[in-house]
Order: sequence, then structure tokens, then C-alpha cells
Amino acid sequence: MQTQLASFIQGTAQGLEAEAILRTCVHCGFCTAVCPTYLLTGNELEGPRGRIYLIKQLLEGAAVTDKTQTHLDHCLTCRACETACPSGVRYGHLLDIGRAVLTERAPRPVGSRWIRRLLSAFLTSAAVIPLYRVAQWLRVLLPLQLRRLVRPREHLPAWPQARHARRVLMPEGCVQRAMAPQINVATAQVLDALQFSVLRTPVSGCCGAIRQHLDESEGARTQARRNIDAWWPAIVAGCSAIVSNASGCGLMLKDYGRLLKDDPLYATKAAKVSTLVCDIAELVYAERANWLSRIRAVQAQRIVFHAPCTLQHGQQRTGLVESLLTEAGVTLLPVSEGHVCCGSAGTYSLLQPTTARALRERKLQGLTIASPELILSANVGCISHLAAGTTIRVRHWIEWLAEALA
Ligand code: SF4
Ligand code: SF4
Repeated sequence: MQTQLASFIQGTAQGLEAEAILRTCVHCGFCTAVCPTYLLTGNELEGPRGRIYLIKQLLEGAAVTDKTQTHLDHCLTCRACETACPSGVRYGHLLDIGRAVLTERAPRPVGSRWIRRLLSAFLTSAAVIPLYRVAQWLRVLLPLQLRRLVRPREHLPAWPQARHARRVLMPEGCVQRAMAPQINVATAQVLDALQFSVLRTPVSGCCGAIRQHLDESEGARTQARRNIDAWWPAIVAGCSAIVSNASGCGLMLKDYGRLLKDDPLYATKAAKVSTLVCDIAELVYAERANWLSRIRAVQAQRIVFHAPCTLQHGQQRTGLVESLLTEAGVTLLPVSEGHVCCGSAGTYSLLQPTTARALRERKLQGLTIASPELILSANVGCISHLAAGTTIRVRHWIEWLAEALA
């Protein structure tokens, strides 16, 4: 795609990256057929190719209209378009640049900016845990719509003692610590069974993804630097991996190297952190020789797996959890439209609730074609979003494995 960037961005690091990405797009439209918002609307501007045109016009200095903002806001950043693209267009990076430029050139109305700021401040603060506990206590009194957003509190087993020579860091997340802390305990139990000890770090807050999604790129970088500082002593002491059990956070952590590549103080450390990050599925799969024989007889249960976009498209780990579960003895049920986003997408389900609900309905139809009793997934956002739309139990696959190994 030929481009003529405007003087405000031409020659800058952002401009050069955007130009290189735009040049790889050959307008073929293969990406359009997999885009969730295009599938819902049939509108070219609600698909990746249309959004690429809008970003191109923006970077070439065209007038910014509400239409540009709306169509970019509707994008879930699911990156299914990247998986489908035969030319390797890095749409997600282009979108980050487009959104950052849009925020500078056409600031949102004051009300919208405040909603985003409050959301990012609240979701990434320590207050989210006690407030969520209160909501759990009052859950039965809440109206149905709100009740569905609050997961009932589950029994929390004790963390295993740190007793192994092999040590890993495990960020416990911001929202996950409030909504589903049992996922972290289950992960620590599985790691213990694989003879890894989890180092619990003093700062284990947000990875930065929430701020990144809410147009606060600098806030995301600040969060990344804070995490790197907190984890560095353990890294220097020889911790072998940074294990993520939320595929959305894992994707962000793997991107620290790119995020801080122009920061002279943090570029090297950020690159090191990125190389150490792995999704829990990657580690468990690599270690399968050590645990497969210890799986208890698998209870016959109708199980289906929902692959989060951040795992299959973002981290490009399609089929990894499915293989792992199959080797553990689970016969997974078929899924239709497995590549399409469930509508959770970080804060998307809060900011674009109508589209998020429509996508959830479509996703649940695809997941339930063979009448499962249990839906497993790999990201707390997807798990909570799907659970709010169905009576079928939705859990993290690591919880299932922790029980199968118990
Ligand atoms: S599939 Fe790739 S090359 Fe084709 S239009 Fe989409 S982004 Fe461009
Ligand atoms: S990231 Fe997802 S929603 Fe956005 S354009 Fe690509 S396929 Fe569509």
C-alpha cells in the first residue's frame, strides 16, 4: 500500500514503523472474513482492511472525524486478522500507533476521558480486591444483570511451600487476584507438582495491558518499568521463567521488549523479561514427561476448550492447550468458529457492552454445539465474560489439571 505520511509523523520511530506495516498490506481482504465486528455488521469499515485505510488516512494528515474514532474503538484487538493475513501485516502494532495519534490529534470528549481514567485507575488499584469481596458478599441481593458480573467466591486452598531448587516468578494479576484467585493457587500447585517453586513478588499488580487498551501508553510503560524493578532481583538470582496464567497478561509481558525499546535505562532489562515470559501452557507442555503418568483416571465429562484470542492470535499458540488436555486423557468436544473473539477483550466488554454481548452469544453457540458440561479457557477475562452468559460451568484449564494431579 503506497503511503505519504504527513510531516507531523514522517521520519519518527512511530511513522517509520507504521509506514513499514502499511506497505506490507496488499488489500486482498482475507482478513475481513475472520473479523468479529465485520461478521456482525458486514460493514467494510468495521473490518481490518477498512480500519487500515482509516489509520492510513489519519497518518497522512486527513481530517479526523468521529467515524475514525468509532471504528477504531469497535476493534477488539483480537488480532484474528493477523493470523489470517498472508502478507504478515502487523495490524496490532499499527492499531497501537493509530490510536496513540488519534488520542493526540482528536482528544475524546471530557466525559469519555474521565470514564477511561476512572476505569484504569480502579481496575489496576489495590482497592479492586476488597470492593470485589463486598460485591461477592452482596451478590444474592444484586439485580440479575449485575449478579452475573460477580463470580461467587470459591474455596481458596493454601499455596504450596517454596521447596524446589527450580524457581519461577508468577505475576498474580490485578483483576484476577480479585475475581478468581483460585487460578493462581491452582497454577502454583501444578508448578509444585512439576518441581518448580513460585516466587511471590511484592509488586504483582497490573501488567500494563489495561492502561494500554485505554489509550494510556505512557501509563502502561510506567507499569512495565515498575514490574521490571520488582522482578529484577529474582531474575538476577536465577529465576528460570516468568510464568503467566492469563493469556492477555502474558501477551503484554512478552511485548515489554518492544514497549521499552527506546528507553535507554530499561530497554535491555525489558528485552530480558520478554525472553523469560511464558504462558503456563508452554511450561506445562514442555514438562509433560514429568506429570502425564501422574494424572488420576480422568472423570468422563463433556469438556470443550475456548481458546482466547490472546493465546491463539496474539501469542500464536494455537492448539497448545488442546494438545495438552488431549494427552492428559480428555476428549475435547468440537467447536465452531473457534478463531472468533468471545467479546471480552480486556475492558471492551465494559465500554462496548452491546457488541460484547452479541459476540458472547455467538461464541457460546459455537462452544455448545456438542452440549458440553464444562467450558475450559486460559484467560480470566474470557472466563468471567463467558460465565456471565451461560449456566454451564466455566473454569481455567489449570484448575482442571490441578485437580487431576491432586
Ligand atoms: S489480509 Fe493482510 S494484506 Fe490482505 S487486506 Fe488484510 S491486512 Fe491487508
Ligand atoms: S483485531 Fe480483531 S476486531 Fe480488530 S480488525 Fe482485527 S480481526 Fe477485527
